[in-house]
Amino acid sequence: MTPAHGHTRRKTKSRTGGESSAPTLEEWDTMEPFGSFVVEGGNGEETVFKLGSTATVLPGTRKVGEALELYQYWLVRILAIRGRNCGNSSPKKKNARTKAKPRVPEYWVKIKWYYSPKEVSCRIAGFKESHCDLYERISSDHFEIVSALTFNELVPIMKFREDDPDQQPIGKEDFFTRYFLRTSSKRCEIESYSSKTSNSKSLGCICGDPYDLKDKSSLHIMYMCPRPQCRNFYHTECLLKCRHWTQMTHPLIRLSCSPDTDEFPVLSPCPSKRRKKKTEAEHFQSLSEAIAALDPPLPEPLLQLAAQPIVRGAALSKAGLGLAGNACAVVAARRMVYAAIQKGSSVPDGWESDLELELDAAVVEDRLPALRLDDTDDALVLMCPNCSGPI
Ligand SMILES: [Zn+2]
Ligand SMILES: [Zn+2]
Repeated sequence: MTPAHGHTRRKTKSRTGGESSAPTLEEWDTMEPFGSFVVEGGNGEETVFKLGSTATVLPGTRKVGEALELYQYWLVRILAIRGRNCGNSSPKKKNARTKAKPRVPEYWVKIKWYYSPKEVSCRIAGFKESHCDLYERISSDHFEIVSALTFNELVPIMKFREDDPDQQPIGKEDFFTRYFLRTSSKRCEIESYSSKTSNSKSLGCICGDPYDLKDKSSLHIMYMCPRPQCRNFYHTECLLKCRHWTQMTHPLIRLSCSPDTDEFPVLSPCPSKRRKKKTEAEHFQSLSEAIAALDPPLPEPLLQLAAQPIVRGAALSKAGLGLAGNACAVVAARRMVYAAIQKGSSVPDGWESDLELELDAAVVEDRLPALRLDDTDDALVLMCPNCSGPI
């Protein structure tokens, strides 16, 4: 058991990592461990910082009391907390008069740094700060021991796995991280957080460019194939240029691509193992017939959402989409449709609250570029470059 917490008061002059009075690793090993520490701010409010939490710290170049926007702070994760001069005395007795010279308790924190995109662009050739967001940070394996006095406030940092169809939405002022910077290897290396396990392909479009969070061009809206072997996003323009499109044959055609199987989604609760091999078109025919046979029918807004392309891009921010796009909502709606077909019954009332959505499928669709053949004006659907499924 570690003691409850250390208690410290923010000084008028803050300190940052690399300070000369920080304990050496030898001293660190002998120091008393704590589970948390409390920082008392200038106005008397207290913040409890616990092991494992993420927090902002004042940048070394800034003065205490200087007004900063939230994104201007440095970010850290707390790995360990130790006290110096704590002895057995309670921190409350720190001002007690004793004959010996008073020893002021100090609290030191082992942290992991989150880098800013600008710092990473100085270390990794080809990494462009310009494709990142103000609230984006790059996780790292860079550890340091810093004073508890430098801590500002607790903030959560979300993990952004770009290839995860179940990625939770990321708000405008949410800190997030999609890359990890390895500083301990001979040369700094950067990698993306991924939902794929082994044999994963690199993330990104066929053009090789990363997801630019500031690119507002509607032709750079990215489309995702959610099938487990694919799980990649591609620019509209790149898919069109490389002729990864086909004529739209049915408004529900994208339901062919499930986030849970590389095959066509299973429509029966006990699929026969000796199923006759069907073409994708035959599979889709069965799926659309099964949807049409449901009584009562599936709600139209659910079908519209499930059949919507999975998209992301800054051009869609006016439709209320955050930087993670609509993947999470669309795949949840698709799963709901597949489950209804398997059960042979429609969804219960209140399906919207089960999806926990605040997304209007029609508003998103209005913002997507109209994909039509020039001569006949027929609608197109984009195709996944990997599996050729409709996306
Ligand atoms: Zn591209
Ligand atoms: Zn695919």
